[in-house]
Amino acid sequence: MINKRILLIYTGGTIGMIKDKVKNTLVPFNFDELLKAIPSLKSEEVDLENVSIKNPIDSSNMNAEVWVEIATLIEDNYTNYDGFVILHGSDTMAYTASALSFMLESLNKAVILTGSQIPIGVRRSDAKENLITAVEIATSGKVHEVCIYFEDQLYKGSRTVKVNTEQFEAFESPNYPILAEAGVRIKYKKTLQKKEDKKLVVHKSLSNDVAILKFFPGITIATIKAIIDSAKGIVIESFGAGNAPTSTELSDLLNTANKEGKIMINITQCLHGSAVDGQYETSEPFGKAGVISGKDMTTEAAIIKLMFLLGQDMSSAEIKEELQKNISGEITI
Ligand code: ASP
Repeated sequence: MINKRILLIYTGGTIGMIKDKVKNTLVPFNFDELLKAIPSLKSEEVDLENVSIKNPIDSSNMNAEVWVEIATLIEDNYTNYDGFVILHGSDTMAYTASALSFMLESLNKAVILTGSQIPIGVRRSDAKENLITAVEIATSGKVHEVCIYFEDQLYKGSRTVKVNTEQFEAFESPNYPILAEAGVRIKYKKTLQKKEDKKLVVHKSLSNDVAILKFFPGITIATIKAIIDSAKGIVIESFGAGNAPTSTELSDLLNTANKEGKIMINITQCLHGSAVDGQYETSEPFGKAGVISGKDMTTEAAIIKLMFLLGQDMSSAEIKEELQKNISGEITI
């Protein structure tokens, strides 16, 4: 039997951090040391190789340039490996999972992001289990998409959010069922399917001309205007099932922004559920001003979808059309 080949891509994060003795803070550390800490990662059935991004980071420093670096590593090594495991800080892992889901078109191999809440060198670390199981999932041949594996659960990348800074269960995919669960055996859900074999296309152009506008009771028109004026694409996090404060000034502002060619997408602040156009009178200003309903998308997926679509050579009308489509499993249509 031929061994499965897996490429580990190290980007930084708590999993590989050590304490800086002078500053007493956690800083990224050497990848080889990290591998030495888990000798059981090496197995007879898997050929594991590793590569690191140029400058490993705390994932709070993540940006589009690093996403392009990661996507290019996958592109350059795509035919040589059966799957990829990305070691990543948990803080922005859900954003990276969404970004790669959009950037890697026609992906037909596993790209599993994982990390840990406690550094690998610490005795109670969750790193070992997360990493070993992520590698096992990547070799299973059952997963053909971008996912996050964390604390026994495999999540769809473009549906995931970080929900906890203290528990080992740091992630959730609030509007999408988990893809696999690791107990004594790893149980894969039936929804996992191999996709049609097409050539991988890697999209490397993302726009930073985006902003998030989160409503709160009492938000002023001046604040709303400043945020809308600051970018071409705006994710609006509205109340409940997609509702806005009733205000003629707000409706006028949204209408003007729409006429100026801004792309606005409305999602709910709630973790579970969906923004529903027209369910309440208070959602009317959105529909009238050409704001697209982001339905049950997470904030992470919505902002990345905007960055991705604004990075393509498309008119505002085309972007609005694409926003409503399901591109990487990120939205329920
Ligand atoms: N600050 C760290 C990071 O995201 C936290 C973690 O890895 O869990 O890089």
